[in-house]
Amino acid sequence: MIELETVSSGYRNHRILHDISCVFKEQHITAVMGPNGSGKTTLLKTICGIIPVMGGDIRIGGVPLGSYTLRERAKRIAYVPQSRATPRLSVYRLLLHGRFPYAGYPRAYSEHDRRIVRQILEQTGLAQAADMPVNTLSGGQKQQAYLAMALVQQTPVILFDEPTTFLDIRNKLETEQRLRELKNAGKTIIAVFHDIDTALSLADDMLLLKDGRTAACGTPEELLKNRMIQTVFAIDIETVYTETGARHFVCSL
Ligand code: ADP
Repeated sequence: MIELETVSSGYRNHRILHDISCVFKEQHITAVMGPNGSGKTTLLKTICGIIPVMGGDIRIGGVPLGSYTLRERAKRIAYVPQSRATPRLSVYRLLLHGRFPYAGYPRAYSEHDRRIVRQILEQTGLAQAADMPVNTLSGGQKQQAYLAMALVQQTPVILFDEPTTFLDIRNKLETEQRLRELKNAGKTIIAVFHDIDTALSLADDMLLLKDGRTAACGTPEELLKNRMIQTVFAIDIETVYTETGARHFVCSL
């Protein structure tokens, strides 16, 4: 479980997030949502320690995150950012870098690290692409490779920044399925979603941000029913019930 208590953070001296309090439950998918610029990416970067906390506390399993070194923190929280430079190294080497929190000094990967990389390559269907340079992969394969790199890190918590946004429909559905599997395997998932229907169908909990503050948190159903999602995005949502579950459509401004 990750707890945020009146957390503030931002860039240099400029505060972006103000007094965020929220509990991210174990084995839950929590969707972080809000309009552009509301601070979603900043929140993920704060939780994984890329940017410092300016006020308040973040705890994981009751222990303040600030008491861990970055390496120790990376054994607990993995972060899959939205976009990043695509290196020329092979998929295999990329995944091996995911073992950095466990490598000794100077960085030396053990046979155990290599075995974990091979296992994850198999599990994620990337074994065929192991020798391919990451910069030659398709968008979907790249996303899969970075997700695999996070899995290699073997953390209980994984943060995702818009994991499905640029994927075609097949890759999108596969990624959504993988997030469900990770949750069922015991991981705590915190993910920024762009698409409201994806968030509503996938998430157990939702944190809504507006202008760097908590607008609401609760289950997606609650926040739909009390119209907080509609209010924060200034939209209306229509729900259609199908045999496979409810689908949600943004239907007006
Ligand atoms: P969201 O993910 O909700 O779109 P972000 O967390 O990316 O929002 O951005 C929130 C605010 O922080 C924006 O006003 C943005 O301009 C600012 N911001 C984001 N990254 C930086 C940065 N590296 N330096 C300074 N300001 C930034």
